[in-house]
Amino acid sequence: MKICVLPGDGIGPEIMEQALRVLEALRGDGFNFEVETALIGGSAVDATGTPYPEATSKAAKAADAILLGAVGGPKWDTLPREQRPERGLLAIRKELNLFANLRPAILYPELANASTLKPEVVAGLDILIVRELTGDIYFGQPRGVREENGERVGFNTMVYSESEIRRIGKVAFEAARKRGKKLCSVDKMNVLEATQLWRDVMIEISADYPDVELSHMLVDNAAMQLVRAPKQFDVMVTGNMFGDILSDEASMLTGSIGMLPSASLDANNKGLYEPSHGSAPDIAGKGLANPLATILSAAMMLRYTFNLEAQALRIENAVKKVLAAGYRTGDIYEAGTRRVGTKEMGDAVIAAL
Ligand code: NAD
Repeated sequence: MKICVLPGDGIGPEIMEQALRVLEALRGDGFNFEVETALIGGSAVDATGTPYPEATSKAAKAADAILLGAVGGPKWDTLPREQRPERGLLAIRKELNLFANLRPAILYPELANASTLKPEVVAGLDILIVRELTGDIYFGQPRGVREENGERVGFNTMVYSESEIRRIGKVAFEAARKRGKKLCSVDKMNVLEATQLWRDVMIEISADYPDVELSHMLVDNAAMQLVRAPKQFDVMVTGNMFGDILSDEASMLTGSIGMLPSASLDANNKGLYEPSHGSAPDIAGKGLANPLATILSAAMMLRYTFNLEAQALRIENAVKKVLAAGYRTGDIYEAGTRRVGTKEMGDAVIAAL
């Protein structure tokens, strides 16, 4: 099993080191792997002038799965747009056709107080947001800033083809089928024609999934419902831009972005696995970052790409044990628990394994 490892920028290398130690602890017993490490994001810009170098593209294409830390930081924020670290992420998703982004938002009982919402609103929360990742206004043409009537005008294009909607819809229905059998499709059909098509196609696909209950919600209402009564949702499916915002909102229901893994899959379950958070430049290099989102991303990789459910569960159960034992990095710390750094948290997970 070939894993391409892309540590990236900021806290990326620190959290990746712990995830790799956890994978190493599982080596053998049906799981053997090779690692090829490559550059992405700002560190790639510094070394090669581009956020997604040819060598990285080659390594990513040759691998079965890609494990990524995070990219970005203030150092690169003023570069021309095509050299910004985030461009590396968009490029790899597009090149590998990783159109389906799966982001679970699970609230571990021990962390119920970490949420800013009342514990009764969020305790036991377990939702999955399925976000389309390679289309929509983020990639639509035409785009740009032009001069019009003596002033600058910025413009982007929201565009979705029927086939793009259909393939993400199928992923979401399949995921719902394996969980609570409820799927909520989020759109803005009252204003945007592109999303009326989205709703129409979702309804068409639902004919193939009579066991899954399909509902629809406008994105503004969905944003409200996620903080009002998030447990009403099982699986949500939406486009790239709405999904970007709603999945971040959902992640904060759980109290810490440092806990949340994600998977981005192609049609053959090749996947890119990464924590949902960014490169956290404010704490980079200090040994303070929470490595659990990256460790849980590695667990998702074992489940979705390598079909190693038992090993994935071993990691997830080890994380639960560590939380139950009171280990906390700063982002999830509360009085009465044990504050640890990045490496100590990795040690604890390995011991629990
Ligand atoms: P961020 O997620 O990096 O940080 C937000 C806050 O959460 C910070 O206070 C940070 O310290 C904290 N945090 C994040 N991850 C943590 C962890 N594992 N442990 C403990 N605390 C953690 O978001 P931001 O500050 O908006 O962005 C910083 C940089 O990351 C920017 O350059 C941005 O473009 C980039 N970014 C990258 C990705 C990605 O690589 N997928 C995603 C989002 C943002």
